[in-house]
Amino acid sequence: MRLETKRLILREYTMDDFDALYAILSDPVTMKHYPKPYDAAGTNRWLTWSLNNYQEYGFGLWAIELKETGEFIGDCGITMQNIDGELLPEIGYHIHKNYWRNGYAKEAASAVRDWAFANTNFDTLYSYMKYTNVASYSTAASIGMTKIKEYPDDKDGIVYVYSITRENRFAKLQKNLENKGYLVHVFASKETAAEYMNSQIHQKTVGLGGSVTIHEMNLFQLLSSHNTVYWHDMKPNDMTIMETRTAASRAEIYISSVNGISENGEIVNIDNTGNRVAAISYGPSKVYLVIGCNKIADSLESAIYRARNIASPMNAKRLGRKTPCAIKGDKCYDCNSPERICRNLSVLWTKPTGAEYEIILIQEALGY
Ligand code: SF4
Repeated sequence: MRLETKRLILREYTMDDFDALYAILSDPVTMKHYPKPYDAAGTNRWLTWSLNNYQEYGFGLWAIELKETGEFIGDCGITMQNIDGELLPEIGYHIHKNYWRNGYAKEAASAVRDWAFANTNFDTLYSYMKYTNVASYSTAASIGMTKIKEYPDDKDGIVYVYSITRENRFAKLQKNLENKGYLVHVFASKETAAEYMNSQIHQKTVGLGGSVTIHEMNLFQLLSSHNTVYWHDMKPNDMTIMETRTAASRAEIYISSVNGISENGEIVNIDNTGNRVAAISYGPSKVYLVIGCNKIADSLESAIYRARNIASPMNAKRLGRKTPCAIKGDKCYDCNSPERICRNLSVLWTKPTGAEYEIILIQEALGY
C-alpha cells in the first residue's frame, strides 16, 4: 500500500523503521497526550502490531515520509479501536514535534479518509482523543469530522469522539453542487446508477467520453439497445475515431466521468484531443457527469493535483503510452513526450449556462 499527497508519501512500515519510529514515540513532547513515552519494547510492539494489521485487515498505521527529503515524520492510518466499548475504524495520526504546525496531519488524514471510503465498506470513520489534545481534535475537524460524544475513561479522564460518514461527505458535496445549479442524484452502487441512467435516456443520440467509469458501468451496452450511441472506444466500422468523437460531441446527450471534484463542487478534467472537455463545456442539450467517491478532493488545488498525479498517470498507463508517468507509475512528470496525454485542463467553476447538467454521485470507487 502506498498513498501520495502533494507533500507526503504514506507507505507500510517495515521493521527497518524501528530507529526512526523510536525517535518519535520516545519523545516526551510528541507523546505528551499519552500516559508516558514509549520505550524500545513498546516501539517494537507498535511496529509488530502495524505489520499484523496489514495482514489481518489490509490496513493499519502507515509511515509518513516527506516527498522532498524522504524524512520519516510520523504515521497515519486506520486501526480498529475500542471506542467506548465498540470496535470501530479509527483514523490515527502521530507527527514528530519538529514537524507540527505544517498541516501534515491534516494532509495525511484526508488521504487516509478518502482511501478508506474508496477501499473499505466502512460507512463511518472515527477519531478519538484525550479531551486536552486540542491539536488532535482540530485535525479531526479539519478533515470534516464532527464531535459526536465524550465519555469518561480511567486512563484519559475524558475522551472526545469525532466521526465522519460517507453520507456527510456526499451530502456536503451534493448541497454545494445544487447551489451551483446542477441537478444531483446520489447512488450507493454503479449498478443502481446505471439502471437509473438507462431508464432516463431513451431514443436519443448519446455521446460518451473516454472513461474507465463508463466501462465499469457498462453504459455503452445498456444505452445502445434503445439509443444511438457514439463512443470512440467502440467506433462503428464506417467511421474514423475522429468522426466518432465529433458525432459524440454533437449528440443530444453527452456522458463523461471526471478526473477530480472539489468538496466545493469545482469539476476538473484533463484531456488530450479536447473532445471530452469541449463536449462537457458546450454542445449537447444535456450533460451527465458520473462521479465515484474516489474523485472527491478537499479543495480545487487538491482536485487538480489528483487529476494530474493520479488520474493522468493511470490513464497513460492504461493507454500504453511511453511517458515517464506510465513507466514509473507514480506521478506526473510534466513531460514533453510526443505521447503526452495531458494537453487540456478544464475547470467547471459552476454550471455552464445553456445545457442541463446532471451529476451522478456514486458511493463507491470508480475509474481513475
Ligand atoms: S504530462 Fe506527461 S508525465 Fe504528466 S501525467 Fe501527462 S503524460 Fe504523464
